Amino acid sequence: MIREFLAEGGASLVVIAPHPDDESLATGGLVQAALASGARVTVVMLTDGDNNPWPQRAAERRIWIGAGDRERWGVQRRQEARAALSILGVPDASIRCLGFPDLGLTELVSADADAAIAGVCEIFRDTNPTVVAVPSLSDRHPDHSAAHVMCCLALAKCDLRPRLLSYMVHGAASALDREFELGANACEQKMRAVAAHRTQLMLSRTRIMAYAERPECFAIDFGAAAGMKLPANARLPWRISRLSASLASLILVTNDRAWRIAIQADDAAARNEESPRCVRDADGWLWLRIPEHISATSPAFAKLAGRIASPWIYDRWGWTRLGA
Ligand SMILES: [Zn+2]
Repeated sequence: MIREFLAEGGASLVVIAPHPDDESLATGGLVQAALASGARVTVVMLTDGDNNPWPQRAAERRIWIGAGDRERWGVQRRQEARAALSILGVPDASIRCLGFPDLGLTELVSADADAAIAGVCEIFRDTNPTVVAVPSLSDRHPDHSAAHVMCCLALAKCDLRPRLLSYMVHGAASALDREFELGANACEQKMRAVAAHRTQLMLSRTRIMAYAERPECFAIDFGAAAGMKLPANARLPWRISRLSASLASLILVTNDRAWRIAIQADDAAARNEESPRCVRDADGWLWLRIPEHISATSPAFAKLAGRIASPWIYDRWGWTRLGA
């Protein structure tokens, strides 16, 4: 089915990659197939992957990594992505780098979603995609799941309804995933493209190559950009302890607005009915209560996140799409 999408007249594939290397790991075969079918291909690199201190420390034999060092590392990773994409057949002119903060996409989309999606919207308007490949909302890396949110909000803003192909890099494949089969030649080219990300292989060759060797799988979503009526009272997919509730907050994002909401005990009096509330019931389930005057024309997403900074970058709870 995915090959049929790519072979349609006027097919335009946009790949959203949070970091340099995601494009090769997750869509190296898809990109080759799209080009072979005559589709236009655009690859959007959201960050330069510059917040990557351990490989940089190892490569440059230094402990302290300053802002200038990070910038230099980002330039190097961009160059590696260009080399990788050239192996896959994508010219420089089809690569768009947005330079967003590496490990900062959740913050970006939850501070001001409209500003965060402006650059992606511009690319969508230029390329008029019929197929968009984007990280899965369930990916445990926060930049990946936030990239999914940004992409859906941007599509809604541009009023575009391409087929959305979600891919997983950090986490287990879902039951909805379809394998995109690659021939031997495409596999070989993909492995060469992954190997072009030399900085990423230095410390993590085994892990990166294991990602690359997995079959390419995508979940197809036809309604990802559709707007919805926000639920007045929705149970969220999280059941947490009182202690966890005291250490977490809920992020709610639409393309109009974003909120960061403290979690209240179920019997807490509504302090402000103007704003959405998140309450934990006696059994530990979280509920989102949204006042009637708040509506959204875009999809809406909520993320449960710890409030205390942690060295562990992967999400414990992650995002859910409201009404899904
Ligand atoms: Zn990534």
